[in-house]
Amino acid sequence: MTEPKTWGIIGGGILGMTIALRLRQAGHRVTIYESDNKLGGLTGSKKMGNLTWDSFYHVILLSDLNTRKILKEIGLEEELKWVETKTGFYSDGKLYSMSNLVEYMKFPPLNLIDKFRLGATILYASRVSDWKSLEKIHVSDWLQKLSGKSVFNKIWLPLLKAKLGDNYRNTSASFIWTTIQRMYAARKSGLKKEMFGYLPGGYEKINTRFSEHLQQLGVEIRYGAKAKQVQKDDSGKLKLTDASGNSDLFDHVISTLSAPLSLALSEDLSASEKEKHSGIKYLGVICPSILLKKPISSYYVTNIIDTWTPFTGIIEMTALIDKKETEGYSLVYLPKYVNPDDPLFDKTDEELRSIFLGALFRMYPHISEEDIVFWGASNARYVFALPTIDYSVKLPPIKTSLENFYIVNSAQIINGTLNVNETIQVAEQKLREII
Ligand SMILES: Cc1cc2nc3c(=O)[nH]c(=O)nc-3n(C[C@H](O)[C@H](O)[C@H](O)COP(=O)(O)OP(=O)(O)OC[C@H]3O[C@@H](n4cnc5c(N)ncnc54)[C@H](O)[C@@H]3O)c2cc1C
Repeated sequence: MTEPKTWGIIGGGILGMTIALRLRQAGHRVTIYESDNKLGGLTGSKKMGNLTWDSFYHVILLSDLNTRKILKEIGLEEELKWVETKTGFYSDGKLYSMSNLVEYMKFPPLNLIDKFRLGATILYASRVSDWKSLEKIHVSDWLQKLSGKSVFNKIWLPLLKAKLGDNYRNTSASFIWTTIQRMYAARKSGLKKEMFGYLPGGYEKINTRFSEHLQQLGVEIRYGAKAKQVQKDDSGKLKLTDASGNSDLFDHVISTLSAPLSLALSEDLSASEKEKHSGIKYLGVICPSILLKKPISSYYVTNIIDTWTPFTGIIEMTALIDKKETEGYSLVYLPKYVNPDDPLFDKTDEELRSIFLGALFRMYPHISEEDIVFWGASNARYVFALPTIDYSVKLPPIKTSLENFYIVNSAQIINGTLNVNETIQVAEQKLREII
């Protein structure tokens, strides 16, 4: 074991909690600074009428071994429920099921040759192991080469635009590769069926138990403590000051915040690392959740190919979770991924409601205003670091020029999609590098 030190961890999301857990288990003294009044960050939950569920939709895959390992450690893994889910596609004003090969073969928007090329692309992508070479190719070039112009224009381009907006032009092929890898992993186990998991009680239960576990181990958690500044103290230690002006000394400080927020913490970083952190391009998300009196479909995910809808896709959570969790209501998320400066962030809740629900009612004429029992949008500006060309080469190191101050955030996920499993992996891997 390394000699016990004092560590300040900024941010109590999954990344901060995992780092705190591992450091404490190694005998260090750990303090988490969390600006909110509970831990969890993006996995946090909100009240929807009388019930509480994740602010942003979350699912666990059978292949999420890091997530399952943590759940086991905090005594929750056995409560996981695994459910076979279905996927839908909305195209030309119609909803199609796309959950197995037979349905795929019937999918009208594509002819037989298109179907073969699309299938071959996905199979090929699932077998590529050299992700580094994909970082050098634009995703649109790669997909056009593999699938041809027709499939690219009918399927890939609308999907890329829905997920990335115009940013797809700067995104590397590793984006689609990692997405396909994750979806393939979900189907690997079992009979190539999509098995998704969730914990009854949602991430609210996971975060509560995780926080209790950390506290029982002796991790100090400071709620409502917004870290403001990290600087070198005369004693040689790092002084961490919060927004209320309280400060404490630590041997080491790790910021788990997104690049722009981490950069704002210290004036002592070099120009070149500031440039590298500022070079990371993020996408944000506007994510309304609604409770309805009846289901809108039987699909957990509905991918949207039509370009007029304001949302990127539809997640019908109650196609996965038991309706006992939601008082019998259907829980649906309407996520829209956008640039951090998108004007949608400035819209009022009422404006968003009218834009998003208007489109939902148009898509599903059997749903109307009287079916809605709850509406509420959750937003986050810096969520997902775009895998741009040569991403891993341009990424800043975790060690900063301010000695013993580290920046370890989800932008360090270089060959995976943003998810809890990868976030835990980054936390554990980067911590090993640090200590
Ligand atoms: C719409 C959406 C859907 C998702 N779906 C899935 C899914 O299905 N499955 C899956 O595995 N993953 C999913 N994810 C990804 C998952 O939520 C993230 O990978 C994970 O939560 C990232 O954790 P983090 O600790 O890196 O960041 P965060 O959760 O952002 O944590 C950062 C923390 O820092 C705190 N903070 C901010 N500023 C300060 C400050 N100055 N001082 C102190 N604290 C501060 C914040 O309050 C927050 O708690 C989804 C994410 C989104 C947005």
